Formats: sequence, structure tokens, C-alpha cells
Amino acid sequence: MSVTNLKLNTGATLPIIGLGTWNSKPGEVKAAVECAIDVGYRHIDCAFCYLNEQEVGAGIEAKIKANKLWSTQHDPEDVRPALMQSLTNLNLDYLDMYLMHTPFAFVNNGTLLPQDAEGNWLCSDVDYIDTWKAMEKLVDEGLVKSIGVSNFNEYQINRILKECKVVPVNNQVELHPYLVQKDLVDLCQKHKITLTAYSPLGSPDRPWDTGNDPVLMKDPSVVKIAEKHGKSPAQVLIRFNIQRGITVIPKSVTPSRIKSNFEVLHTLYIDKHCV
Ligand code: NDP
Repeated sequence: MSVTNLKLNTGATLPIIGLGTWNSKPGEVKAAVECAIDVGYRHIDCAFCYLNEQEVGAGIEAKIKANKLWSTQHDPEDVRPALMQSLTNLNLDYLDMYLMHTPFAFVNNGTLLPQDAEGNWLCSDVDYIDTWKAMEKLVDEGLVKSIGVSNFNEYQINRILKECKVVPVNNQVELHPYLVQKDLVDLCQKHKITLTAYSPLGSPDRPWDTGNDPVLMKDPSVVKIAEKHGKSPAQVLIRFNIQRGITVIPKSVTPSRIKSNFEVLHTLYIDKHCV
């Protein structure tokens, strides 16, 4: 029996596999999104700062919606306009899930990654608690059905739980066998905050790869498990997170990979995290 959804603390459900869209180039990502929807994906991860929202939106055509608020837009005054811009880009009326992309904030000077002349990051002192409270209003307005966070650590999650009204539905963080983050996962699951694993395949196309970094999909243990079970290394890595009750968003613009990455659900068993 296939089980494909995690239950959110709002009562809604979140498909356990989604399509990642960071680094998907213009001209590629619309086709990737359409291919994913045809294959059966019902969860698309996108973000203002990936600069491809319009093409993602064209591919989604009002099917599944999840998005992230970028770090230059944390000022409570900027939160609603930022969402409205993303809705326009995506050609949607509302989002199912909207995440704060990072706990830290940059100054809003019109650039995505603000730096001074010496290359220092231009951070702002907006507290993510104030940003979160502005996001809570988006739920009240019906512009987003649920809100969550991304790249939040245990301290930051605990502050939100203590100081805010709405419990995040999701924390999207880097999770794979080289970064298991057990304490953070335990804390979130204890408070019914689902997790989404980004870079689940080790992000081999990340721009800052030195060329000498370990390659997760070529890790001898991963390859050995894949060979033993007649699966691809990517499938083993996707199941690694799913079997921890964690949603996974592997990115691909290659139709055969979009399909095979999804084909890990066929023998999925029911566990305490799934509905
Ligand atoms: P992934 O770990 O998903 O790796 C993507 C890379 O793996 C691409 O180069 C892709 O190539 C390749 N790939 C995909 N499937 C296979 C396969 N079956 N076999 C071999 N290679 C494969 O990296 P990402 O860092 O992109 O993470 C996934 C998503 O998570 C992002 O796209 C984004 O949506 C989200 N994210 C969120 C962050 C946050 O701060 N919240 C930060 C980073 C990512 P190809 O496309 O050519 O097929």
C-alpha cells in the first residue's frame, strides 16, 4: 500500500515527495514542473530568490503551491507585498504553504543578496519573530493556508513556539545522511512541525562545490545499499528521509530522473508519521 502524505498540524496534508526548483534554468523548469505533475507529484518547492517563479507558475497552473519569503523582505511592512509579488509571478490567488526562507534578514535595497563595496553581507536587525507575526496575518486573510519556516535551528523554533500564536506547519532544512540533524528533527516532530529535506541528494550542482567535496550519491555505503536492493543511489537517499517521516524535494529537470525519484513510494509502509 502506498502512503504519500504527512499530516500537518492544521489538519491538511503535505505530499511526502515534492519537486525542487532551485538552479532549474529558465526554459527548463516549466517542462520539469509539467513532467512532475504528470508523474504524480503534487508538491512543488519554489522561492522568490530562485528567479524562476513565473515559469514555475506556468507549469503549475493552479495545482499545488508552496513558496518561500526571501530574506530581504522580513520587515513586517514588506511581508504582504512580497507575498503578493510571488502570487502575481505564479499567477495564483493563494498558496497552500508559505515559508520564511531564513531566520536572518538582509536589508531590503532591491538586490537579492545585498553586499557593501567590500563584499560584506548587509544584514538587517529585523527579528524573525516580528516577521512571523506578519506572516500570521496572511493566514487570517486567507492568502496562505499555512505558514512555516526554513533553516531554523532548535533555539529559533523554541522562540517561535514560546512567543507566537501560530505553530509552524513545516521546517525546511538540509537533511541527508551527511547531515542528519537528529535533535532538530526530534524537536520538530515532538511539536507536530513536519520537516522537509532540502538538498536530499547532496546538491551536486551547488555553485560552491569545490570539486574535491565528497559526493553523496557516490558514497560507498549508499552505492552498496542501492546495488543490494536494485535501486539508484538517489532512490536510496530519498527513502532515507521518507522513512524518518520527512518530506523530500529532490530537484531535477531531467524527465527520467523526475520519474525515478518519484518511484520510491511503491512499497512505502505506513508508519506513525504518515496518513
Ligand atoms: P538536490 O540534492 O535535490 O540535487 C539536485 C541535483 O541532483 C541536480 O543536479 C539534479 O540534476 C541531480 N539529480 C536529481 N535526480 C537525480 C538522479 N536520480 N540521479 C542523479 N542525479 C540526480 O539539490 P538541491 O540543492 O537543488 O535541493 C533540492 C531543492 O531543495 C532545491 O531545488 C530547492 O527547491 C530546495 N532548497 C531549499 C533551500 C532552502 O534554503 N530552503 C536551500 C537549497 C535547496 P538534473 O536537474 O540535471 O537532473
